[in-house]
Amino acid sequence: MADPTQTSRPAGTSEALGCLQRVFGYDAFRGDQEEIIEHVVAGGDALVLMPTGGGKSLCYQIPALVRPGVGVVISPLIALMQDQVDALRALGVRAGFLNSTQDLDERRMVEAEFLAGEIDLLYLAPERLRVEATLRLLDRGKISLFAIDEAHCVAQWGHDFRPDYLALSQLHERWPDVPRIALTATATEATHTEIAGRLKLQDARHFVASFDRPNIQYRIAPKDEPKRQLLELLRSEHDGDAGVVYCLSRKGVEDTAAFLAQNGIDALPYHAGLDARTRAANQARFLREDGVVVVATIAFGMGIDKPDVRFVAHLDLPKSVEGYYQETGRAGRDGLPSTAWLAYGLQDVVQQRKMIDGSEGDDAHRRRLGAHLDAMLALCETVECRRVQLLAYFGQQSTACGNCDTCLTPAETWDGTIAAQKFLSAVLRLARERRQKFGAGQIIDILLGKKTAKVIQHDHDGLTVFGIGTELSVAEWRGVVRQLLAQGLLAVEGDYGTLVLTDASAEVLGRQREVRLRREPARAAKSASRSSSGTGKKSAPVDLPAELVPVFESLRAWRGATAKELGVPAYVIFHDATLRQIATVSPSSLEELSGISGVGEGKLAKYGPPILDLLAGLRAEG
Ligand code: ADP
Ligand code: ZN
Repeated sequence: MADPTQTSRPAGTSEALGCLQRVFGYDAFRGDQEEIIEHVVAGGDALVLMPTGGGKSLCYQIPALVRPGVGVVISPLIALMQDQVDALRALGVRAGFLNSTQDLDERRMVEAEFLAGEIDLLYLAPERLRVEATLRLLDRGKISLFAIDEAHCVAQWGHDFRPDYLALSQLHERWPDVPRIALTATATEATHTEIAGRLKLQDARHFVASFDRPNIQYRIAPKDEPKRQLLELLRSEHDGDAGVVYCLSRKGVEDTAAFLAQNGIDALPYHAGLDARTRAANQARFLREDGVVVVATIAFGMGIDKPDVRFVAHLDLPKSVEGYYQETGRAGRDGLPSTAWLAYGLQDVVQQRKMIDGSEGDDAHRRRLGAHLDAMLALCETVECRRVQLLAYFGQQSTACGNCDTCLTPAETWDGTIAAQKFLSAVLRLARERRQKFGAGQIIDILLGKKTAKVIQHDHDGLTVFGIGTELSVAEWRGVVRQLLAQGLLAVEGDYGTLVLTDASAEVLGRQREVRLRREPARAAKSASRSSSGTGKKSAPVDLPAELVPVFESLRAWRGATAKELGVPAYVIFHDATLRQIATVSPSSLEELSGISGVGEGKLAKYGPPILDLLAGLRAEG
């Protein structure tokens, strides 16, 4: 086991640490970073599974800086390459990119820099590797490593599949001596295996980090006027914060963005139906300005490394836990408290079951979609800690977190056996006595004994189950139906969302099975979790003593103006967390300033003097 080269290598390690401190301005590595970096610096292959915000970029950026040659980063995020390169240049790192958005002259210039070894990192769109000229170019330069970012794009059943990623297995054949590091935030066992297989990384060292994101508070609420619920959330907890709101349909995106804008929120739509210019402009405003909310379909967000997204809201049920976790993971990359909020209701379940039934592909495919949905529903209906369940989905064990809605306001359960029997027997009687199938609305009306036009038309007031369920409200009945669907005790069929019994329904009707249900929270109890989150956070974007808020705001204003002048996102200059620390410490010398996390040499030289001036001015005033 003793590796003689190991003892002679602390120099390499400290070189990496020195690079972290000097270039990036951070004190210490996080989690597995050091081990991963050491492994790649020494020439090893690595497959890295780490949640969003875990700090994946440093795992290839530092080895690229430490090893001789140019680190080639394969990334599908063409629209973000410019920002990624700008962010590195702001740190004083020499970087460039090659993709289809450039003209020939620009490309030639970057190619020349690559060949001359004048850059340390080269970002490359995967489709460029299909072009023989690119391969020959790479042959002529010196490559320090290949980093394959968003590696789950190689997984064919995943939601982000990119055919060009399949060709990446050739990297190893053509450049067997160049270490490869593949990185992703998607981590189920199945995806993990598929990535390793397709990229030929079985022999690489696999690093699987904890997927916990402790600063994100997970909350799932029953849907009840979702736009109003969302507005309430934004007003009470996220006033002036940047965030992402996900909707399933383009229409949902448009309606929600318009509603928020009417109510004074700086909200912009983003979906594939908008023209490319509008999309790019909306994304740029989100990245560059403070406090913009983007309402989007899931086409938005991959690779967006904006660190200060304070909330991610879902107004429709995500199709899988994997997708949900990726999307919510875009909140709080800076480690500060953030919210993941999802509203879901009966209609979501009906609609998604319908979509699965009508989807293309074979039975196995439909079964897989069904299993994804079931796992998502189980998460929504759980009375246990959400985080425990989420992490268990990724094969990781944990204990109750204290920072999710079920931990903060434990869900009450009740014995819903009789209610379930009533509902199921109504479905049964309609089928047996009338040869009819109906959706939830009609059946609930029957149980409540409502003589609606439709009830009278079908003579449903003559059924023995008519009026036997008046002990529950409409909302409570909808909760019962939703949970019966989630537990597989009821099924949706056909285009109209009609309800039918399942094999398991018989066990309930035959009294062989008890049904435990989660109690629907009353309307008034809605903001309960708010008070227990206890941060008292209002419009100040970070928790600061009141007297420091004006200092922080001045620093933020300076950052905004500087970012605008340079044409880069504000967070490329400094993160909120760094500004907060500057406000707290109030350094009066460059040396003091350099001790703050996030202030490396490059930024110290560029921004140190104006920041010290600004602080001195504030001290003189106040
Ligand atoms: P990922 O790509 O895994 O989502 P990033 O690489 O964007 O995450 O890192 C998330 C944030 O954490 C970034 O703002 C990054 O600068 C910061 N970060 C990463 N590593 C460290 C570290 N060792 N110390 C302090 N901050 C770090
Ligand atoms: Zn919890």
